[in-house]
Amino acid sequence: MTSWIEIPENSDFPLENIPFGIAKTGETISPATRIGDTVVLLTVLADYGYFDALNLDDLSIFYQPVLNDIAALTKQKRVSLRERLIHLFTESSDELKQNTEDCSTALVNINEVEMLLPVKIGDYTDFYSSIEHATNVGVMFRDPANALLPNWRHLPVGYHGRSSSIVVSGTNIHRPKGQTRPDDNLPPVFGPSKQVDFELEMGFITAGSTRLGDSIPAEEAEDHIFGMVLFNDLSARDIQRWEYVPLGPFLSKSFGSVVSPWIVTLEALEPFRVEGPKQEPAVFPYLQTSGKRNIDIELEVYIKPQQSEENLVCKSNFRHMYWNMAQQLAHQTVAGCNINPGDLYASGTISGPTHNSFGSMLELAWKGTRPIQLHDGTQRTFIQDNDTMNIRGFAQKGGLRIGFGECVTKILPAK
Ligand code: CA
Repeated sequence: MTSWIEIPENSDFPLENIPFGIAKTGETISPATRIGDTVVLLTVLADYGYFDALNLDDLSIFYQPVLNDIAALTKQKRVSLRERLIHLFTESSDELKQNTEDCSTALVNINEVEMLLPVKIGDYTDFYSSIEHATNVGVMFRDPANALLPNWRHLPVGYHGRSSSIVVSGTNIHRPKGQTRPDDNLPPVFGPSKQVDFELEMGFITAGSTRLGDSIPAEEAEDHIFGMVLFNDLSARDIQRWEYVPLGPFLSKSFGSVVSPWIVTLEALEPFRVEGPKQEPAVFPYLQTSGKRNIDIELEVYIKPQQSEENLVCKSNFRHMYWNMAQQLAHQTVAGCNINPGDLYASGTISGPTHNSFGSMLELAWKGTRPIQLHDGTQRTFIQDNDTMNIRGFAQKGGLRIGFGECVTKILPAK
């Protein structure tokens, strides 16, 4: 498909993408989409009547500072909105193109906007769904012969995380302080974490809601997914190690987690579906899915020290996930937990089978035993002050590229 908007070569945002985000320009905060480097303000298009044909009950969804109301639409209405936007910007469509005045207020260059957190996240769950990651952690901290705990192949392990500290890409995070116990034979100590780490993850944002007591069948779960984001689940490994028994991570994973600003819909990612890994033993019926439920999304993590260039430290892929998103959402709701539009469900660290595809410093530097060499001659076992982490993600096939942009954060010294 070609658009009358110029799209740079290799852009993450061709006309086939149509992601959703929240853009701030001057005093205006608006739901938006992006085509190439052009941000389209949906508030302005709603003002000029471009969405009247959609027969939505309520156009106020285009005047909110978050996308929760758009995520609350039925799947059919969300798809109609996407198709309407594709139509308006298709090369052959004159409807908006001819109205240069409307264009001049609705279209803004990406450099002139600030992207905000796209949804108000009510609830946040973090899963642990990469078999390579769970195996690596089991080998490192428990028993190489029994790396996976007995439940792991039977259910998508997860925990309820903290949503107040989830921030949008570009927000910098201070190194956390807390209790650690560097020597098991001595009392714990208090101070800045010495083991700040990234976790390469993706997340999905829920659409619609369910009532308490209801469950979402796995085969219908994708209808409740608005779209996907990149996610850096920052972790302080030394704090985590001391605090996590018996209830799981607490302060070690709530000092800041970072999402990319554009929510990419499953409709845009449809051409990149692939089969997931074979699940053995067979899963319970409530977790069974058919067809291609994994997605081929290439993922990269870069580390940039303050004074030098960025370094590619990890190349992984979302297709490695053992548990797919439909299974995660089916499991989340099977006991009757209700969901709301704008919830965030993170995949867990996405590690691949090879050493350079491990999705955390913990694994890449293998618990500090194999430091990573950077171009500037320095080494890393964990993240240092003023290091910037950048996660990029894109799906690519036969000339079509659908990307997520970037998920960037810098670690500042402890406050
Ligand atoms: Ca995580």
